[in-house]
Amino acid sequence: MDAALSRIPVALLYSDPRLHAALGKFKYLMAAEGQDHNAELQADAVVIGGGLAGQAAAIHLARGGMRVVCLEPHESFPQIIGESLDWSAPQLFAQLGLTMEELVASGAATFKRHITVISTDGSREEFLPGAWLAERPWNVEVRTLHLDRRQVHERLKQSAQAHGIRTLHERVIGFEICDRRIMSVATAEGRSIRAPWFIDASGAAASLLGREFKLSSVAYGPRKVALWAHFPTRDWVEGTTLYMLSPESEYMDWIWEIPIQPGVSSIGYVAPGSKVKVQRANGLTNEDVLAGQMQKFSRLGSLVKENTHQRVAATSFLCRTYQGVCGPNWIIIGEAASQSDPITGNGVTAALRHAAESASLVCKYRERKTIPALARVAYNIRVMSVGRYFNSLIEKMFYETHLRARLGLFGIARAYTVPAWLANLAYSRVRPKRLLGTVLFCSSLVALRATVWMASRLSRLFPPRSGNSSQPRDERREQHRALQTPR
Ligand SMILES: Cc1cc2nc3c(=O)[nH]c(=O)nc-3n(C[C@H](O)[C@H](O)[C@H](O)COP(=O)(O)OP(=O)(O)OC[C@H]3O[C@@H](n4cnc5c(N)ncnc54)[C@H](O)[C@@H]3O)c2cc1C
Repeated sequence: MDAALSRIPVALLYSDPRLHAALGKFKYLMAAEGQDHNAELQADAVVIGGGLAGQAAAIHLARGGMRVVCLEPHESFPQIIGESLDWSAPQLFAQLGLTMEELVASGAATFKRHITVISTDGSREEFLPGAWLAERPWNVEVRTLHLDRRQVHERLKQSAQAHGIRTLHERVIGFEICDRRIMSVATAEGRSIRAPWFIDASGAAASLLGREFKLSSVAYGPRKVALWAHFPTRDWVEGTTLYMLSPESEYMDWIWEIPIQPGVSSIGYVAPGSKVKVQRANGLTNEDVLAGQMQKFSRLGSLVKENTHQRVAATSFLCRTYQGVCGPNWIIIGEAASQSDPITGNGVTAALRHAAESASLVCKYRERKTIPALARVAYNIRVMSVGRYFNSLIEKMFYETHLRARLGLFGIARAYTVPAWLANLAYSRVRPKRLLGTVLFCSSLVALRATVWMASRLSRLFPPRSGNSSQPRDERREQHRALQTPR
């Protein structure tokens, strides 16, 4: 019965009276059999999903004095993704009680001070915020973190317990909706939970409320696949390293190396799903595909040789941003609202920001029981324009070929890094909340997005005459050697 219910499409459950009745009967039977004495629950707020966004939102809400129920089907998370943080993320973790220094001291994180981009010919370049930014009047924190996500998840779980959040390992399968207000959620385990407020943090794959309300969305690039594993490493690589695999004439695929703990690196391969499918059709396993790509770089090749039995995790994702992510008593956050491409490093920042902003809206309008229309519009504009900004820039500049062919790999990395980093820094400083501030801030993102779009169109019309316009290869090799000197 339980498994059968979970296969029923979410939207059907409450729209079809027979299914609704069957659900009621199922709940009754469960309660009657004594398996569940709490088939109906009441809370101040229900958070759907216990990933990073859901945990953060639940903690913020509980701190605001609300009785929170968090629904998360899984009890354990063996390999959580999203390990290299943008420079704005640490202060968002600090708001949850996890400071940079303490995360590093406890072994749950390492410092990230720069990003290194390496191409298949061995040339490389480092990208780091200038030291002058740390000084007055800017006072910018120029360090950020790589996270061991499993440890961070456990820390947030403990914090959730300490805040009295009730986590139920149950899957949401339906909503009771009246005039676009959510009245209650139903779980596959036969429970119904009523609350005045609902937060959907169900992730990109489920996107429960996006589907339920048939929200429109904008997608960037093809569906992609990521294959990754954690490798023991002998030599310490500080900073995130991006190994770029594709020639300038092809859509980009790439490898990340993220040192999540001293002596352990997360290494992952990202490529369009179609490309991985071809390799799988040729009889390769996920392990073979990851190893094959790693062997294209000497450092990664030796890691793969030393660790042949690494368990490889896989996921597929589509970078997509929903529109209309806030209703009268519900808010969509994290990847359920907007999935960022991993190379932007913006997923964690976005998830934590959405969590903090959604909880603050709920606490502010708690008595009124409805989020006013202007506040809804402002939240929606922020989520949508930031999501589209990062995905559009990375797609046009990194993944697609035209601008990359014109500026070269390192030129494009330089051109992307500055506006991406500045956008997040400005967001953290300005903290747009009201409609006017939101519109002014987001207009600048739209203007930058339009500039990149125009540059991309022009580079299609006027392709470079021969090769790319980046530095000559010998010069880049020289730079590579210089950067290899120990620091
Ligand atoms: C390959 C890859 C690499 C990435 N790398 C980075 C990076 O380096 N840096 C960065 O900042 N970000 C990165 N990200 C993004 C980052 O991982 C996420 O943005 C972040 O973890 C927030 O996720 P979330 O909580 O919104 O969703 P999730 O982590 O997906 O959590 C959603 C939760 O909802 C639960 N759920 C689903 N359906 C239901 C249901 N019906 N009922 C109840 N619960 C449900 C799921 O079990 C899950 O636990 C990466 C993403 C990908 C795909």
